[in-house]
Amino acid sequence: MTKPAYVIDEMISAKAIAARIETMCRDISAEFCDTDKLVVVGLLRGSFVFIADLVRELDLPIEVDFIEASSYGDGMESSREVRILKDLRSGIEGRDVLVVEDIVDTGHTLSHVVQLLKTRDPARLKTIALLDKPSRREVDFRADLIGFDIPDEFVVGYGIDYAQRNRNLPFIGKVRFVEDG
Ligand code: 5GP
Ligand code: MG
Repeated sequence: MTKPAYVIDEMISAKAIAARIETMCRDISAEFCDTDKLVVVGLLRGSFVFIADLVRELDLPIEVDFIEASSYGDGMESSREVRILKDLRSGIEGRDVLVVEDIVDTGHTLSHVVQLLKTRDPARLKTIALLDKPSRREVDFRADLIGFDIPDEFVVGYGIDYAQRNRNLPFIGKVRFVEDG
């Protein structure tokens, strides 16, 4: 079987992402202005570029940690059953936490992670997602902060992959399949 050929059409430019991150970081800094040390939790692997840009815009004392949940495998469909593949290194009891996700689709992944982390009694727990596809939602969940609402398209770039490729694109693009040859 040959791999399907696809092209990537730019949907959100690197410049637009940077501008949106700047405004969202003003909101986060205001929300957590009194924090001792905010634990910024990235969901691996898709959020790694977003979290890197985000923390450099935050004027707050922070710690960075990561959690990894399974969802997509190498396909384009969520498995809906969420498993934790890698847990946090730090305890979060009594602490302020910001969970950073690349994209909310059906909502299963982030709502599962939030439920899990809440059982650990953080002082405050907020969520931020760069992208949201509200039309795809299967569970009642909305991140506290959202960079961009997007239509039901499969996107890549800025940390987000298709079968582990295209994470290094500086922009968000949508995948469009083309005839081979
Ligand atoms: P959910 O559990 O909300 O359905 O899925 C969330 C996860 O699915 C995201 O963290 C992301 O990894 C993946 N995902 C959702 N939509 C897309 C997409 O358009 N492209 C890619 N590459 N991954 C997506
Ligand atoms: Mg993800």
